[in-house]
Amino acid sequence: MSLPDMKHPTFEDLELLAEVSQLLKLLDLDQVLERVIKLAAKSVGAEQTSLFLHEGQRVDWGHIFTSRNLSPDAAFKVVNKVLDDGFAGWVARNKRGDVIEDTNEDGRWLIFPDDKLVVRSAMCVPFIYDDEVLAVVTLTHSLPRRFNEYHLRLMTIVANQATVAIYNAQLFNRIRSQQRQLQTILQAMTDILIVLNEHGKLMLVNDAAAELMGLSKVADARGRSLKDFVHMDDVFEPIVEIVNAELVRDDDWSIETRSERRQRDFQVRMATWLDSLEGVAGYVIVMHDVTMLRDLHRFKDEMLRVASHDLRSPLALITGYADMIEIDTPPENTLVHEYVDVIKKSTERMGGLLEDLLRVERIRSSPLELHEKIDLEQLVKVVLVNMRPSAEAKKHALDSEIHLDGVPRIVADPVLIRQSMENLITNAIKYTRAGGHLFVESYYEDGKFHFMISDDGIGIPIEHQAHVFESFYRVNQDVTTEKGSGLGLSLVRNVIERHHGEIWVKSVVGEGSTFGFWLPLGEI
Ligand code: ADP
Repeated sequence: MSLPDMKHPTFEDLELLAEVSQLLKLLDLDQVLERVIKLAAKSVGAEQTSLFLHEGQRVDWGHIFTSRNLSPDAAFKVVNKVLDDGFAGWVARNKRGDVIEDTNEDGRWLIFPDDKLVVRSAMCVPFIYDDEVLAVVTLTHSLPRRFNEYHLRLMTIVANQATVAIYNAQLFNRIRSQQRQLQTILQAMTDILIVLNEHGKLMLVNDAAAELMGLSKVADARGRSLKDFVHMDDVFEPIVEIVNAELVRDDDWSIETRSERRQRDFQVRMATWLDSLEGVAGYVIVMHDVTMLRDLHRFKDEMLRVASHDLRSPLALITGYADMIEIDTPPENTLVHEYVDVIKKSTERMGGLLEDLLRVERIRSSPLELHEKIDLEQLVKVVLVNMRPSAEAKKHALDSEIHLDGVPRIVADPVLIRQSMENLITNAIKYTRAGGHLFVESYYEDGKFHFMISDDGIGIPIEHQAHVFESFYRVNQDVTTEKGSGLGLSLVRNVIERHHGEIWVKSVVGEGSTFGFWLPLGEI
């Protein structure tokens, strides 16, 4: 090839640029790189070409392309040295291309003793994207002075086009590998995942979903309607019902469903999705197997049934016989009377505990009696009247500040809310030494009804505060001799949360506690 004149590009040069622009169509990185080194060699009539791809500051060892065969070891040695001290390193650091007219006269060209290849001219160009060097291409020739300023400019134009193609291919590679990663995660998930379009057609299912649908392959689901599976397994029925109703964008649902066929229960989370680019929409459904939990619930219900019927009657018998022993034992036999007393007290406690357990279950499982709009001011006043005798019996002062005039009535369960307030006040009375001060405050603000009761009692250590609302949790047994089952606060929390409110506690040991809750004033 003769050296072209600097001003006028040849027809071949223009053709070459057209060819380079075709690179943008390729998405496979290896293909792009192979084409780049071929085109680069062709563009300037080079005999050998090599390309190193960069990944940040490092060389991407998987992507070293040379037009001659180098063993991986040799390539590793050469590339490292050349990038540290050689021409390619100089170009990468300076972020600009350059020509070595004669390698004998330029120290940047390194000679490797065992390399038989004769190189006299060299040219090296960086591929720069966003001020980052993506790759460096080196072109060589066995004769000196084969490359000039024109070649360098031509190669720079080629590099600019090719850089975009390399960047695109890298991006595509990255997206594809992320997609594979996501797919692996979805398939490995034990939860069932189903993606539907807005008409209820299956777009994606994972292995667990395919198994539930009785499909041997995930791919068999594509294009079919979830409706088709309902006749096979009723587990999908409530989901299909939601899909059949008008699609509500940005909504989500939490439902439970059961497969009678497989005797499995599922907690289902369903959300709508919207593809803003293509304007399509649909549903993402995740089904979590809660069979074990449901079985435990059933077991617990059975235990409670046993407790209520089968334990209560022997307990009544023990109490009855203990009474008879007491009546039949002469008064002077004090030891027997003492023993019987212990038996009676213990059975009484057991009976109390059973009653509490059953009460908890009744309250937890009973539907809320929401048919009444309750007058909160009236309710708080009744609570204060009810609690005053117990407070006075322990010589506590019970003060209050109620600002509820004009409070909107709310639909709530009046009995449960009243019991909850009374429970908190009973605790304040119990866990405050005689002669204490109790203070009830109630008002409404920002759409919420607030109720709180403060005492100057024994307080609750900070590490226990988060737990007092758990069932059977009791604090500092040695500080107080008060009896209790540890169920009261868990019940109050249950009631408040079922009314979509929140319960809280603030307490300092030795200074006292404040328990409070709020309820939303809107319709519950
Ligand atoms: P119980 O009173 O039957 O033990 P609760 O669930 O009502 O059960 O209360 C749990 C625990 O929280 C109590 O055992 C007590 O240690 C603590 N507690 C509750 N209210 C107060 C209070 N006002 N002051 C101090 N401790 C309290």
